[in-house]
Amino acid sequence: MRLDRFMDLALGHPVHGYYMTRDPFGRAGDFTTAPEISQMFGEVIGALFVEIWRQMGAPSPFHLLECGPGRGTLMADMLRVMSKSAPDMLAAVNVHMLEMSPVLKIRQAETLAAYNNVTWHEDLSTVPADAPLLLIGNEFLDALPIRQFIMTEDGWRERAVGAGLQFVEIETPDAPLFRGAKPGEIYELVPARAKFMQEIFKRLQAQGGFSLWLDYGYTKPSAGDTLQALRGHKYVPVLEDPGQADITAHVDFSALAAAAKAVDIYSHGPVTQGEFLRGLAVEARAAALSVKASAAQQEDIEKALRRLTHSDEMGALFKVIGFSSGYDFNAPGF
Ligand code: SAH
Repeated sequence: MRLDRFMDLALGHPVHGYYMTRDPFGRAGDFTTAPEISQMFGEVIGALFVEIWRQMGAPSPFHLLECGPGRGTLMADMLRVMSKSAPDMLAAVNVHMLEMSPVLKIRQAETLAAYNNVTWHEDLSTVPADAPLLLIGNEFLDALPIRQFIMTEDGWRERAVGAGLQFVEIETPDAPLFRGAKPGEIYELVPARAKFMQEIFKRLQAQGGFSLWLDYGYTKPSAGDTLQALRGHKYVPVLEDPGQADITAHVDFSALAAAAKAVDIYSHGPVTQGEFLRGLAVEARAAALSVKASAAQQEDIEKALRRLTHSDEMGALFKVIGFSSGYDFNAPGF
């Protein structure tokens, strides 16, 4: 079985798929994401989106789409910022959630219970195209299924999953175009991600707007096996117990930027998450939250700030890229 098929089934199989059966987040779960670490993350991004919407001339109505919204925490934090600082934006928004997991849809509906203009989608085709689009995805692109190719003494082979859940190497008609690959080196291609982004670029072109993507990844094309599985906050072998661990791969941000350029979509960044959040004044946000906080809470805020921005934590490994079309944005954070 090709690796992308394996990943697709392990994460998305209707009965056994990892995301389809559970809420994987938090201390009791398998991993923690930036919006779950602190409200500061969603708040400074919410403020960025308010600014972007103002730069668009405050269109009403407009669509706000989140891809892979997890527990709905990021969207809730962004909408709270709008309700406080931009009620006109809150009045203009139609919220859309792209989510395949029935369990997480329920969780998101609970988180966003205060809002009555939220619609769920299983793919992009049902998201309305009749107004400008603002879009966000945090740790979404890393969940899309990848293919891996390995250079051998006899040329390219594709890595696949064989009987007994072992990696095997198979003949492939689709070898990657990388030059100078050395035997043993692995390169990753992500057709599902490329296809998804093409659809996003078409939407941005047709509707006008801005999209923001945050994920772990790299900014220069490079060799390496980045496939990983997390269970109970620990790395586990990728092929072990399919459906029981979160499987992800790092995002090649240079490939995203190149694909955007090829269709005349403007790229903002990529920058590191640390640079991005500092550019959005996350430190000032932390200080503001600390004013009314107890000593213990202040310590938590300080720890969360470090986790989100420090280069030993998420600050350097995570990257951020924006794409826009139809407007000249001066986007803070980049
Ligand atoms: N953005 C959230 C969750 C990240 S986990 C956060 O930062 O906390 C990945 C999310 O993407 C989950 O909600 C998962 O169910 C969803 N997802 C993964 N692959 C998907 C796909 N192909 N279509 C729709 N949703 C998907």
